[in-house]
Amino acid sequence: CGIVGVLGRHEAAPILVEALKRLEYRGYDSAGIATVNAGVLDRRRAVGKLVNLSDLLVHQPLAGKSGIGHTRWATHGAPTVNNAHPHRAGAVAVVHNGIIENFRDLRAELAEDGIGFQTDTDTETVALMAERFLKLGETPVDAAMKTIDRLEGAFALAFLFDGEDDLIIAARKGSPLAIGHGDGEMYVGSDAIALAPLTDRITYLEEGDRAVVTRTSLEIRDANGALANRPVKTVRVDT
Ligand code: GLU
Repeated sequence: CGIVGVLGRHEAAPILVEALKRLEYRGYDSAGIATVNAGVLDRRRAVGKLVNLSDLLVHQPLAGKSGIGHTRWATHGAPTVNNAHPHRAGAVAVVHNGIIENFRDLRAELAEDGIGFQTDTDTETVALMAERFLKLGETPVDAAMKTIDRLEGAFALAFLFDGEDDLIIAARKGSPLAIGHGDGEMYVGSDAIALAPLTDRITYLEEGDRAVVTRTSLEIRDANGALANRPVKTVRVDT
């Protein structure tokens, strides 16, 4: 299971698939990517090996220079296309590794608002919560932050938003996550190995950190919401 993300200067889909390939060693049962192209969010998902996702992308290409990707190791819900990540609710797409322990409570809360579910996953509640905050008038950054505040369990998360060509929100709690610094590009990855062909300049998120990532900036807040300074390290991985 793994997470990748790119805010780039080139088409994101091939970069995301390549980065996911570098995480194959972790094992997975399905995979997917989402991109924003001229403000429009869209996604593709496939069960089985990454080659199935690549084949799908040949027939149903996904344009855009911003995107997130995921390899799934199912914990809640069978390994089907419908349960594969990215999960989408309205303007929000989310990829997640780990388990949202309180997803049943969150589901009940959402159900009280008349919000229905399309998957069997714990992760879908994250997308639905964020979309609910957006509809209440929150900005994408605040919608993601308020959603993350509500989550219990272990997770690495990345959020992508319809209408936002230059924004990924990433969060780490109990599951590692790294931000890669490029030249006018930024990347997100479960580890530096995933990002090795793209950059060796890595900022590791610490426990409880949330990152607001754009092509030209990285703002990290700690679990209490305070701005945090995390070093950029040079991490050499054999490609
Ligand atoms: N719990 C989530 C799911 O089952 C994420 C699993 C993973 O870490 O890939 O969809």
